[in-house]
Amino acid sequence: MARTPVEEARLHAVAAAKRVHRALDLQQRVVEAGGQVDVFDAIAELDIALIFKPLKSALGLCLPQPLRGIMVTTERSLHIQRITAAHELGHVILEHRGSIDREILERGPFGPSRGRDIQEIEAEAFAAEFLLPRWLYRHHVQHQGWSLAHLRNPDIIYQLSLRMGASYEATCWGLLGHQILPRGDIDALRKAKIAKLKLGLGEEFRPADAWADVWKVTERDDGATITGNPDDLIRVELDEAVGSGFRWNAEALSEAGYEVLADASSFPRDPLLYGAPARRVLIARPPGPSATKLVLRETQPWREPDDNDPVFSVDLVLHGKEKGGPARAAWRRRGVAR
Ligand SMILES: [Zn+2]
Repeated sequence: MARTPVEEARLHAVAAAKRVHRALDLQQRVVEAGGQVDVFDAIAELDIALIFKPLKSALGLCLPQPLRGIMVTTERSLHIQRITAAHELGHVILEHRGSIDREILERGPFGPSRGRDIQEIEAEAFAAEFLLPRWLYRHHVQHQGWSLAHLRNPDIIYQLSLRMGASYEATCWGLLGHQILPRGDIDALRKAKIAKLKLGLGEEFRPADAWADVWKVTERDDGATITGNPDDLIRVELDEAVGSGFRWNAEALSEAGYEVLADASSFPRDPLLYGAPARRVLIARPPGPSATKLVLRETQPWREPDDNDPVFSVDLVLHGKEKGGPARAAWRRRGVAR
């Protein structure tokens, strides 16, 4: 069956996003650097001007050749800034005429097409492929040891979305677009109430505002980089060999300026196994915008720590959204820490 012009346009845009991934060797770099496509850094590397401004009536815009520039609002969350930048990058790479975007759909190939500008359909398909390629899903699913059954659980998809730096909604559409889950599963996932998931994870504690997130960080995240907001809550869950007197040194969190809100251990009860590890759960509030290398050691308190003690480390990069001017990534490229 012949493809429709809309299908052709989407395929063309997806191929363009894949070409940029290859040109910048992004797959390997993203997988090594913590699992998010850094779209702001990619734009800087492509030598395209990107500036953040307090735009009120648009999420973003792009200027056509020969200027080749992108502007993104400072008035929205980091996830929206990322999808907007990827959408505008699509316009630039596909050599569209200039565009001002007041609304950006995150539905990739599943957005409405009737009566819509073909350039917008292309930019949406480009952004979805650029930020949420199939290989990125595979990376996180394998790394976290998730099965297909796990992926039907909204709690898991919420944690997946945080690690990929995308909204829950966009992450669901990507699962469908890459044919990882069928439509029925996606419809069920999209019914989940995210606020409720956050409440369950944070127990009685809530992130500082309704948009902030709750990260569940486990052994599987050892060595990873978490990129989030200063208002997020961090929930660390680690097995602890309490039978032999081992404890994780939660003090490392307070020493890094984190406020420890909860610290509890629980034992597997069904069946009750003597000598089985306990599950230590720590919930902590970050000290504000910060980048912290958190290193926890599991030691026996009556002796000096030694090199054989289990170590868990994670980089917590919680700068949040871009606040104005060039992106932090562009400053980094110029050797300026911001
Ligand atoms: Zn657009």
